[in-house]
Amino acid sequence: MIELAWGAHSDRGLRRALNEDACLAQPPLFLVADGMGGHASGDKASAAAISAFAELSGRPSVSLEDVEQAFARAVHDVTGIDSRGDAGTTISGVAVSEQDGGTYWLVLNIGDSRTYRLSNGVFEQISVDHSEVQELVDRGELSAADAERHPRRNVITKAVGAGSSDMPDYWLLPVRDRDRILVCSDGLSKELSSEQLANVLAEEASAQGAAVRLVHEALIHGGRDNVTAVVVDAIRSGEPDDDDTATYSFDENTVPRPVAEEERTPDAPLQLG
Ligand code: MN
Repeated sequence: MIELAWGAHSDRGLRRALNEDACLAQPPLFLVADGMGGHASGDKASAAAISAFAELSGRPSVSLEDVEQAFARAVHDVTGIDSRGDAGTTISGVAVSEQDGGTYWLVLNIGDSRTYRLSNGVFEQISVDHSEVQELVDRGELSAADAERHPRRNVITKAVGAGSSDMPDYWLLPVRDRDRILVCSDGLSKELSSEQLANVLAEEASAQGAAVRLVHEALIHGGRDNVTAVVVDAIRSGEPDDDDTATYSFDENTVPRPVAEEERTPDAPLQLG
């Protein structure tokens, strides 16, 4: 049986009047939704999408069909929020899915919220943004660095609702012991570089500590948008060939937090404040 630890944190940020992000951190689902700015009812859209998926909470595992049905409910509910049907939201994250005796991260994404994985010391973005700048990058017409400053960097090409009839992208990744998943809104990924995200995830022992510190770092770097981070740790993957004599307790294999705090000197690059 897979063992998980998780944490979540969200903040309105420093410029926006409302927090239109929503998130779900209840096994087996860990999701972030970003209600679309410039559209009416963005906060209702993200909340409605999360509610549709929350109906799956508490199950030990979900299938792709379960997630597809929840997505269809989310589209229906978000589309019904206002009479013009222009409410919309992104959604990204993971569901724990047990299939054929293996345990997987079932990753889904539509829009430009993001799902990342830190596994065996390698940090990578799993989801691919549905955005105008990502399309330019894919065609070789824009560098990834220039995309971060492009005037149309906030324009997404697929969403839940908002007139989109597109389906999410899905990936199925085997869960490995001590995998750490980060799901976030663009208010985090546009304020911090991938390297900064990876460093925080590597430094913070607890999932909740990592989520809180990531949001804090985004505020320090400007907090121009709503910021949401969900962090999930696979303490044990639940693979049947696990050696029972091995201990995979996350805390025992990482630097305890009090020591980590002491080791952060004022010269450390990711020092808070
Ligand atoms: Mn946003």
